[in-house]
Amino acid sequence: MKFNIDHSFIKSLPADVETSSKSRQVEGAAFSYTNPLIPSYPNLIHYSDELATECGFSQNEMQSEEALEIFSGTKVYPNTQPYSMCYGGHQFGHWAGQLGDGRAINLFEHLNAGKRYAFQLKGAGPTPYSRKADGLAVLRSSIREYLCSEAMYHLGIPTTRALSLVTTGDLVWRDMMYDGHPIQEKGAIVCRVAPSFIRFGNFELFTSRKDLQNLKRLADYTIQYFYPHITGDEPNKYLALFQEITDRTLNLMLDWQRVGFVHGVMNTDNMSILGLTIDYGPYGWLEDYNPDWTPNTTDAEGKRYRFGNQPDIAFWNLIQLANALYPLIENVHALEEILNGYQEEWGKLYPQLLANKLGFKENNPSIENAITELEPLLKKVETDYTIFYRQLAHVEKEMEPMEIFELISLAFYRSETITESDKNSWLPWIQSYLKLVNQDTRRDAERREYMNTVNPKYVLRNYMAQLAIDAAEKGDYTLIDELYRLLKKPYEEQPEMKKWYTKRPDWAREKVGCSMLSCSS
Ligand code: AMP
Ligand code: MG
Repeated sequence: MKFNIDHSFIKSLPADVETSSKSRQVEGAAFSYTNPLIPSYPNLIHYSDELATECGFSQNEMQSEEALEIFSGTKVYPNTQPYSMCYGGHQFGHWAGQLGDGRAINLFEHLNAGKRYAFQLKGAGPTPYSRKADGLAVLRSSIREYLCSEAMYHLGIPTTRALSLVTTGDLVWRDMMYDGHPIQEKGAIVCRVAPSFIRFGNFELFTSRKDLQNLKRLADYTIQYFYPHITGDEPNKYLALFQEITDRTLNLMLDWQRVGFVHGVMNTDNMSILGLTIDYGPYGWLEDYNPDWTPNTTDAEGKRYRFGNQPDIAFWNLIQLANALYPLIENVHALEEILNGYQEEWGKLYPQLLANKLGFKENNPSIENAITELEPLLKKVETDYTIFYRQLAHVEKEMEPMEIFELISLAFYRSETITESDKNSWLPWIQSYLKLVNQDTRRDAERREYMNTVNPKYVLRNYMAQLAIDAAEKGDYTLIDELYRLLKKPYEEQPEMKKWYTKRPDWAREKVGCSMLSCSS
């Protein structure tokens, strides 16, 4: 296998002078050299053919012994030096100090067709940042990260990617629900890929330690390699950097809310400096519309990271980043203006997004009215967020309101308990929607096609991932492949896959892994 190696990160930033993987505080450095553990019986379960091609690898290369050795951590590629990054973060609203790549080991950066690909193994063993944990990852969480990263990419949403999924042949102790019942689970490694894995927390840690020299080096590095169009003098270039990160973060929030993705752990160490979705842990997909829902049982009490709160949390996280960049800028007013801009933009773009979901490119007061009146209805009869908008795309100008009710009732959970009064509460909304559709000059088919580019038909529902996990635990990986292929075309009809166009089954309502996930992974 041939890689076009580049070492921008380790070349530009200072290394930890110590090289053991003993847990420790690492000061004055951006990373520590760390070698992956050698797994007992590595086995390639799946790889992203799409991403492999993008990186310039052939299918034969991906299936080779050498690829398995590299992507399982068995062999270090010649002339490369794996490393773990040092970062801090605010977790659940509190400064947590140094965190770092506790179980991520960066292999190297590879250049292909003008693009940069950093390869990172997640679950390849302890690093100086592992604290008291083992640096490993289990199969269930690795499958979830693998499938969801690629699904997100095909939804057109910025994300870290996943190139390969490997089992290690080693067992890992995990207490899944943190209730004193640890069991041994299969170990696995995902090879994640992104232009860079730098997080808000990388900046925060230097600032918290008053290490302004390295703060500046990190900001300069980020601009040089990832925002090269930012030119100009200090401090303006750092302000421009903050503006771009703010814009990208805002767009990411619009995307998440559009498709019903709930990250679950939006700590500042899980916020990408490139505006990517990063660190797939106890994430989930909204099924019945409920802005208060979070899949993360670790956050069940405060529900800080609930669906409806994500845009505000992103804002809160941006404030932490502003504080971290402040020493380079020293202009509170200018930073505040950018932050105010986030809120103003959100106020404009979010209603616009909801109008788009309903099929309208431009917003107007009657559409806004329909948006406002829709929300309580979606909540009143538990309504599937994905199916509802896909069904609504079938509305035609000549339809009777009752026909439309039938169409959307496919999205209702507990449809057997829908009462006359539920029906009566929907009818006025349906009538006003029908009126908007009739005022729209586009043909029905045109509006439908548009809606189907905004609203996906297939998302990685929590129970789907769980089915793939249950099968994989027994050694059957076919469902991983089926879901991988399904989620490559999330906006397409794919009639042969229609069994996945269905609400969460009843058995999954309260099942661990389907509606409840802990951070244990
Ligand atoms: P997360 O909540 O997954 O973003 O993780 C927060 C921090 O804990 C990061 O620094 C991770 O690298 C670290 N971490 C999580 N799980 C493990 C593990 N099994 N071993 C070592 N470090 C871990
Ligand atoms: Mg993390």
